[in-house]
Amino acid sequence: MKKIIPIIGICSMLYFSGINSTPAWAKSDYLEVKNGKGHVYTVSENEGNKQLREIAKTTDKEDGWVYAAGKWYDVGESEKEDSVTICLKDAVKYLKKHKGEKEAKFAHVHPKKTAEESIAPPSSYDIFTHGKLKRMLKNSLKMSLISEAHTSHGVWTYDITDALEKDINNAKPGEFNSWRILESMINQETILIFSNKSSSNEEKIEHYISAMKNLGITVSYKTSEK
Ligand SMILES: [Zn+2]
Repeated sequence: MKKIIPIIGICSMLYFSGINSTPAWAKSDYLEVKNGKGHVYTVSENEGNKQLREIAKTTDKEDGWVYAAGKWYDVGESEKEDSVTICLKDAVKYLKKHKGEKEAKFAHVHPKKTAEESIAPPSSYDIFTHGKLKRMLKNSLKMSLISEAHTSHGVWTYDITDALEKDINNAKPGEFNSWRILESMINQETILIFSNKSSSNEEKIEHYISAMKNLGITVSYKTSEK
């Protein structure tokens, strides 16, 4: 079956041992997909959202940023057509500058590859990444987290139940556990719903939202203004 799910990797697993170099930050007011992490942008949340939609239309690679209080930090590495590695430890490091803020956001782009992929929903790896970062921000900065996947067609916002957050953070690589079961259910449901040629985009979106709700994932979708 044709792969329709964009994926996100977790570089934090590799980087937990410590980051020893300070990235050379490029200051800018227009978000860009750039190789590597550490680029910082001073852009309002609304303006950044608009820019991400434009990026999703034209980019051929995924990338990810964390946002708080008017600043966007590039936390993506190894940007590829259908995946990006998100550096969670760096995300926490950047957001530490905004300690005291109640909420942070993680946003990434799903490039438009074909018309049917223009609404590509969050993948199970996206949900996993959200669960990891949500726990890290709660524990170290007392910040809540919302996560978004921006496509050329609209924005997916997603969050998880406390039970699922626990499952994700208790899951050990290579081990059979509750998260692994749920992960395969997310993947199966997503493929089933989005490969159904007889349903419209609106129906697919509605089916996906309700299927994810049953799995402990709250998803909403907002079509971008033209
Ligand atoms: Zn994604």
